[in-house]
Amino acid sequence: MPDRMLQFIHLPQQTPDKRAPNERRADFDEIYDEFEPPRAAAQASRCSQCGVPFCQVHCPLSNNIPDWLKLTAEGRLEEAYEVSSATNNFPEICGRICPQDRLCEGNCVIEKGFDSVTIGAVERYITDTAFERGWVKPGTPLVENGLSVGIIGAGPAGLAAADMLRRQGYAVHVYDRYDRAGGLLIYGIPGFKLEKHIVLRRWQLLEAAGVVFHLGVEIGGALPFAELQARHDSVLIATGVYKARDIGGPGSGLPGIVAALDYLTVSNRQGLGETVPAFEDGALNAAGKHVVVIGGGDTAMDCVRTAIRQGAASVKCLYRRDRDNMPGSLREVKNAEEEGVEFVWLSAPEAFLGDDAVYGVRAVRMRLGLPDASGRQSVEPIEGSHFTVRADLVIKALGFDPEDLPAAFDEPALTVTRWGTLKVDHRSFMTSLPGVFAAGDIVRGASLVVWGVKDGRDAAAQMHAWMRQNATVAVAAE
Ligand code: FAD
Ligand code: SF4
Ligand code: SF4
Repeated sequence: MPDRMLQFIHLPQQTPDKRAPNERRADFDEIYDEFEPPRAAAQASRCSQCGVPFCQVHCPLSNNIPDWLKLTAEGRLEEAYEVSSATNNFPEICGRICPQDRLCEGNCVIEKGFDSVTIGAVERYITDTAFERGWVKPGTPLVENGLSVGIIGAGPAGLAAADMLRRQGYAVHVYDRYDRAGGLLIYGIPGFKLEKHIVLRRWQLLEAAGVVFHLGVEIGGALPFAELQARHDSVLIATGVYKARDIGGPGSGLPGIVAALDYLTVSNRQGLGETVPAFEDGALNAAGKHVVVIGGGDTAMDCVRTAIRQGAASVKCLYRRDRDNMPGSLREVKNAEEEGVEFVWLSAPEAFLGDDAVYGVRAVRMRLGLPDASGRQSVEPIEGSHFTVRADLVIKALGFDPEDLPAAFDEPALTVTRWGTLKVDHRSFMTSLPGVFAAGDIVRGASLVVWGVKDGRDAAAQMHAWMRQNATVAVAAE
């Protein structure tokens, strides 16, 4: 091992510089600057090159983190890129938006006492540099194998699978009801976490490799699922989960109470240069408003921080548990607080006040009770603790469930779990329909980008194996 590793003893953790909150609030650009090359190398050199790297064990993609850290520390960036991209189709995206505190970095052995290696920032740096220097090439196959694959959904799961299958010589057709590829990367996650040009360049690269995108095409709508099946030797369903969980109670139907993804999609479209009527007329625009966001996950964090950037008069986040028991990343809570969001922990809405439109939320204080069967502390309202929060825009961010796909696809033989997610064989990724596979949130329920990439890769490998056995044309690339 070169002397330049194991520097954690002398060198403190340094993340890339974070822009000042006042500056961040004024735009939708990412909040972290790029690493300066010497700092990236120095930070990579803090790794102790563990024999059993827990960072890798806890990365869903089993990324070979110690190797690419060592190569970065040695300035061998092109090799670092080769290693990093061997297990991850979109390392620069995961490096930006994985909740590293819960995955690789949270399990780095030097975390205790020395602060973890900044794995995500180095991962992002390696691939951003690779793009800058022209090392990232389209995955064009050497030989076409004569077989064709239809992928429904251009989110991270569908795109990772498309990349893998195209490289193996399949004619890959990706269908998406949206007008742009990327799924939640493009219309869910805001630019301050992931700038849109990062997603667009991946889409362009896939097109350059020969992947054919059919955008604005809803399967089960304009194009029946059965017709899609007939077009291709194999099909992957990667449609994500989009049915927003709703909230009941008096006044819950008042104008001014909106769903998180509707709000974020409109904001992202504006950011992409569109003029969206619901933004222009104020219905889905927080400018000048008192905003209350209900929920404590990633989506809620994205809503509060979007509202700040749109110029809201005040932004509060109501969550029924406390900071330690929230599902969202604590790093994002810190960012939101720096930007001026107020968190009202241990509080739940009971009613929405208003006549023609909402003007307030009546909430109740909660207390944490005993852990339930899942080990999570239950919550119960504290009697007589009601209070009212002013709100002229209420954003519901309570999570997502799958749509009824068997009905939408008019395919009753497509089996689902009791949660409505698609049932697959966990080894083969095949659904109840022969030759039809599924991956990503539609199988796992709302999850993470990195798991979508992992599932997309694994499903692609299984589709390849299945087509070698079952498809009618010999796989020429073998
Ligand atoms: P999706 O990304 O949802 O893509 C599915 C695609 O399928 C969509 O483009 C959709 O239009 C298309 N589709 C659906 N039905 C049809 C149909 N019938 N016909 C044609 N096309 C169809 N994860 C992280 O790791 N880090 C984060 O910071 C993070 N932040 C998030 C913020 C928000 C607001 C949200 C909502 C999620 C966030 N996530 C985050 C989760 C992450 O985005 C998802 O887990 C991931 O995108 C799932 O990938 P997917 O490919 O399964 O589905
Ligand atoms: Fe960490 Fe995510 Fe990168 Fe894996 S993919 S190394 S979990 S940032
Ligand atoms: Fe390096 Fe930390 Fe991974 Fe060990 S756990 S190999 S120190 S990044």
